[in-house]
Amino acid sequence: MSDYPHVHIGTGGESEELKVSKTTAAEYCRWVETEDGQWETLCGNVFELSEGSPTDNDMAFCCYCGRTLKEVRFVEKRDE
Ligand SMILES: [Zn+2]
Repeated sequence: MSDYPHVHIGTGGESEELKVSKTTAAEYCRWVETEDGQWETLCGNVFELSEGSPTDNDMAFCCYCGRTLKEVRFVEKRDE
């Protein structure tokens, strides 16, 4: 029985760790406060609050795209 075909025995049980890390750049919607007190949203809308910031008004999500709201307050630059 010398003609026994050579059988390549693999290791078997191949385990591929597929770490799918979805690092979506825009998982949140950024609201940037303007000098006029309006909020420009990342999804291209403008929202005007009568008072306070979105989080002050208990807004956790963007009311336009539904993503998590991330507010960026307007920083007044002062020359000293
Ligand atoms: Zn949005």
